[in-house]
Amino acid sequence: MNIDVYPIIFAATMIMKSICVFCGSGSGNDSRYMDAAYQLGQLLAEKNIKLIYGGAKLGLMGAVADGVLSEGGTAIGVIPHFLCTKEVAHGGLSELMLVDTMHERKLKMHELSDGIITMPGGWGTMEEMFEMLTWGQLGMHQKPIGLYNINGYYDGLRTFHQTMVNEGFLKRELIDMLMMNEDADGLLAQMERYTPPVVPRWITEETT
Ligand code: AMP
Repeated sequence: MNIDVYPIIFAATMIMKSICVFCGSGSGNDSRYMDAAYQLGQLLAEKNIKLIYGGAKLGLMGAVADGVLSEGGTAIGVIPHFLCTKEVAHGGLSELMLVDTMHERKLKMHELSDGIITMPGGWGTMEEMFEMLTWGQLGMHQKPIGLYNINGYYDGLRTFHQTMVNEGFLKRELIDMLMMNEDADGLLAQMERYTPPVVPRWITEETT
């Protein structure tokens, strides 16, 4: 490697020490979803990246945490009191943080993480990811947001994003804020290289 370019590459790489994973509380109909969630957890642990997530033991949420823990990694759950029943909360996490509301939960997960990965999930997962995207769009954070497109699950969303741009409801320069990849390693590499778009910062966290 040309030593002259090394500092430039280094400067453009973001080191992520913790990643928030949003994903389904269901398992999906295809075993590839659960397998990929478990393997993503293992990968995060191998890379010494802490998992921040919703604290449940159900579905993909439980699988990603189990994957982290199986490799001796750190899995931190953030869960509201009303969901923290024996049936829902994961009992073996490195730390389980209890909060009062769903809003507080999302803000805490955001505060604790350097980046966000969304795996397949339902409305809850979508709501969480889109809120992070809108906060980024408003300039409230500059964290990389990745969509782990297992089994083509999010192909339709990719098409819909293009419709949003084509029809003039999403700025073309913002579309790259959501990085999409079929491969977990590839997605992490994309997120490490992420350069946030310059967006007007017309509101602050205090005004929301
Ligand atoms: P789902 O993708 O619907 O299986 O939900 C996955 C995650 O989203 C879980 O952590 C749920 O607690 C959370 N969730 C479910 N419904 C909502 C909601 N209406 N608003 C915010 N988060 C939700």
